[in-house]
Formats: sequence, structure tokens, C-alpha cells
Amino acid sequence: MKQQTLAFSSKKVDYLFDASFAEFIAGYDPEKIIIITDEHVFEKHETLFTAFKTIRVSPGEAFKTQDTIDTVIEQLLQFDADKTSVIAGVGGGVVTDMAGYAASIFKRGTRLIQVPTSILAMVDAAVGGKNGVDVGLYKNMVGTIYQPEAVLFDFSFLKTLPEAEWINGFAEVIKHACIKDAELFAFLESHSLRDFIDGPQLIADLIEKNVGIKTGIVLSDEFEQGDRKLLNFGHTIGHAIENIHVLPHGAAISVGMVAAAELSVQISSLSEEEQHRIERLLAKYGLPTKLEIDKEAVWDVLLKDKKRDKQMMNFILLDRIGNGIIRPIPLDELKVLIDKL
Ligand code: ADP
Ligand code: ZN
Repeated sequence: MKQQTLAFSSKKVDYLFDASFAEFIAGYDPEKIIIITDEHVFEKHETLFTAFKTIRVSPGEAFKTQDTIDTVIEQLLQFDADKTSVIAGVGGGVVTDMAGYAASIFKRGTRLIQVPTSILAMVDAAVGGKNGVDVGLYKNMVGTIYQPEAVLFDFSFLKTLPEAEWINGFAEVIKHACIKDAELFAFLESHSLRDFIDGPQLIADLIEKNVGIKTGIVLSDEFEQGDRKLLNFGHTIGHAIENIHVLPHGAAISVGMVAAAELSVQISSLSEEEQHRIERLLAKYGLPTKLEIDKEAVWDVLLKDKKRDKQMMNFILLDRIGNGIIRPIPLDELKVLIDKL
């Protein structure tokens, strides 16, 4: 196991890499632990949960809603949870987002441990303290920023992760490479998804590297005044198409990154050659690069985006692979660009 302690403004957070969930959780008073997981993860890892109070939610983004949070809170009450309880979110990003949100609001805040079990949750969702739920078509519209006391990476969970979810997670890995790390981008080009699925050390190192990139950005800008916005590369258009077209998050942001790369060529200094490298890398890892998008519907959702600032949208572009930039684009200009996609 490898431990790293990060100082966020509100809390110190322990990142425990290559750790064992079973061993870690055994160190707590079992009466105090309340696990939140989903049906899939519960089914695949049932024996891990038997000794603990466990709340199971339905799997999938469609259930990342306030309604689900209400049922979670009712169950917390049934379990007699209080401020000294330790909520452990064990699952993909949907679970860690809802566990984080529930922990932050229940009795104005309980203890929280995040145990991401998907690639996406490990490299992104469970890192940085953002949580929340969707409201209709609008993703993550309600939520808080609440740091857990620990994020535990037990890579053995990945043995049961379906391949489609590996692909999904690699979209965020490629995003990190695009905005911050040209070397990582080239490393991904020289490997394939199979290498990582079949290479436990390779994926462990990759996850640690990506957690490092994300935490580096988050620590420099915890409350998203500046650099943290870079993490939204591909997400402005991605989020809009995700729920309209009911796409997996990775697929949606892949198409969003292709669109943002296209805009980067048009209005920043990204070369066409690098634009094509981005498309090729996404395709190599099984991600879609093109989609007939319903531009009118996308535009309506875009207008509700959190990155909108009155008549401007803070859009994330690349000036080259490995360097994301934040560029405010007037809404009317953006509309023209999107119509051209
Ligand atoms: P995310 O892609 O944000 O992690 P989810 O929480 O919806 O989103 O997880 C994606 C899917 O993968 C869900 O169906 C979830 O139940 C499933 N899942 C997550 N982790 C595992 C795992 N270790 N083994 C099997 N299925 C998993
Ligand atoms: Zn994302």
C-alpha cells in the first residue's frame, strides 16, 4: 500500500493506493460504518459487505437523482446514523457522487470514505470532492464540494469491471493527457486498452498518475476559480449530448473532446495534425468520435451550463496536446461554431 496525504482547505485527505478495502474497513468499528453501493457492485463483491450496514441503489446515471438521495437518507435514519457514522461510497462515479452528497448534507455532514471501483471513478469522480445529482437533463446541477477523509484504491475491484466501463474511464484518462501531459498522451498512443486490462501494474501506475494530474489541478484551485475549469475539456458539449442522446459519459465526452479539438484548430493554435492524433487516440481506445448531434437540443442544454457567465461561455480549448486553455467565447459566436460542427 502507498499512502499520500493531501491538504485541502477544509480537510486532510489520505489517498491509499494499492490498498485492500477488506483490510481497511476491518479497522473501523463495524457499527459506525454505513456502505453505499449499487446492485452490480454488491452482487459481484457480496462477501465484502456482509458485516456492514449496506444501502444499495439502482445502478446507472438515470438513478443519480434527488429521489435516490431521499431514499438513501431514509435508510440512514433507519440505520440510526449520526454525525459520528462513517459513510463509505463503494462503486463507480454515480455511487461516489451520491455517497459524497449524502454524507455532506445528512445532519449537516457525516464522515466519508470514498472507495471508487471503476476506472472513471478512480481517475476522476472520487478525486477532488465534487459530488451531486442530475436534475432532468442537466448533469450535476445540484451538489456540494465535500472532501472525504480517505480515498481508497483497491485495484482488485477492476477484475469485475465490464470492458465497456474500462473504455468509459479511458475517456477521462485521455482528457487528462490532452489538457496537461503530452508525454502521457504519447504513452497512451504506444499502448492499447488490452495492455492495461491485462496489465495490473500498468493500470495501477496509470491510475496513480491520473490521480496525480487531477489532484494537482484541484489543489491549485479547489473552488474552480481558474485552472480546475480545464478538467471540463470536452464536457460542455459532452454533458449536453450525454443525456439528450442517452450516451455513456465516456462516449459523450469523447465526442465533446473531438468537437473542442475542432474549435481549438479554428480559434486557437492546435494543429490539424494534433487534432487528428486526438481523434485517432480516442478511436484506438474504443471511443466514438462522431455523432449526428441534435444541435438545437444541445444548444438549449448548453445555455444552462454552469460554465456560462451571462453572454459568455468559458470554453476549454487546447493550444497544443498537453496544454489546455480557458477561453471565454461570446454565446453568439459559440452558436455559429456549433452549427458548423
Ligand atoms: P462511472 O462510469 O461514473 O463510474 P457508474 O457508477 O454508473 O459510473 O458505474 C458504471 C457501471 O459499472 C455501473 O453499472 C456500475 O454498477 C458498474 N461497476 C462499477 N464498478 C464495478 C466493478 N468493480 N465491477 C463491476 N461493475 C462495476
Ligand atoms: Zn467527466
